[in-house]
Amino acid sequence: PEESLSLFELALEELGLIENARIRLVNLPKSQEIKVRNIRSKHLNEIVVIEGIIRQASDVRPQVVNAKFECPSCGTVISVLQIEKKFREPTRCSCGRRGGFRLLSKEMVDTQRLVIEESPESLSGGEQPKRIDTFVKEDLVEPKMEEKTTPGARVKIIGVLKEVPVPLASGGLSTRFALAIEVNNIIPLEETFEELDINEEDENQILELAQDPRIFEKLARSITPSVWGYEEIKKSLV
Ligand SMILES: [Zn+2]
Repeated sequence: PEESLSLFELALEELGLIENARIRLVNLPKSQEIKVRNIRSKHLNEIVVIEGIIRQASDVRPQVVNAKFECPSCGTVISVLQIEKKFREPTRCSCGRRGGFRLLSKEMVDTQRLVIEESPESLSGGEQPKRIDTFVKEDLVEPKMEEKTTPGARVKIIGVLKEVPVPLASGGLSTRFALAIEVNNIIPLEETFEELDINEEDENQILELAQDPRIFEKLARSITPSVWGYEEIKKSLV
């Protein structure tokens, strides 16, 4: 799926339609939706859709995605895509040289790590919520978007499941892998206050309520109406 997405993006760019095109998937069939607890290695490199609550959000930091090197022997410029965690250098040049290449430039993008936890209502009985790491980049970490992806926010995440090698204390790599989602799109599932759509009718109703001398009690009572009593606590929440 990743390759087809990249091909689409390249095609859009070549057609001159959009510069730096990024395809963000929106509506995917329900069959792609999966609970975090049910994610297995058979889903690796497939598109998965999960829903949950953001529990941790790292700072947005730059990451190298592409690096250009120059061969000191013949001057050839070699591009190396940086897809793994470890910074990769060219292994050899077409002239036969191995190693000792000069780093010319690095292409950086902003990235962020979000930890997603299953939402409580998706659990049954005594199940503990499961978590998964997700990696977000480029336009999805722009300040406008970052406001909606703070801890506590409920989101739908569309992305590709990846394996991440677990580094051992000795410095080597373990044969065990952790799973993480490389995010294609984040869809916030709740509107922020600023975005709440208030039409004229709502506005009139709000203004009318504002005139109500008993508005304070009414608002207090509207909080968890199924729970009786606790009037003082409810009032303090208003
Ligand atoms: Zn060379």
